[in-house]
Amino acid sequence: MRVNLDGIHTNLRFSAAHMVIGHESCGKIHGHSYIVDVEVDGERSGQFGFVIDFKILKNITRNICKSLDHRVLIPVDSPDLTVTYEDDNTVEFSVLDCLEYKLPIQDVVLLPIPSTTAESLSVYITDKIVEEIKDLDTLNYIDVQVNEGIGQGASNRYYFNE
Ligand SMILES: [Zn+2]
Repeated sequence: MRVNLDGIHTNLRFSAAHMVIGHESCGKIHGHSYIVDVEVDGERSGQFGFVIDFKILKNITRNICKSLDHRVLIPVDSPDLTVTYEDDNTVEFSVLDCLEYKLPIQDVVLLPIPSTTAESLSVYITDKIVEEIKDLDTLNYIDVQVNEGIGQGASNRYYFNE
């Protein structure tokens, strides 16, 4: 059986700025209002016959959204981005060896991913949710879709028992 959270109605959202390094138009810093949809497939179990407790799944996903909200998302694993300076207040990085950025550390999230496309963000958020879920025995897969606004998104599926 499958359960799902529709991010627009369950407030699984965040607003953030990013860039798609090297892309003609999306290479410039710009923003999206992201919406995260989550689906979990598994066996019903426990006292209440849940696949997974909605409340637990919402809290986990909301906390991840909160960690990204109102920040500039920086993909530090990109081969085209180099962090050149970082201290408690500031991060500096260069992109494609020609663009120089200096931002307050409080305004950014340094993400261990190769890009901040919807595709990469869906993988990142999937992995973060999976880290937090307990009692995995009865679950089959989780599917996380990251939407850049309404109408376009990328989804990633993780199988628990492979
Ligand atoms: Zn974008």
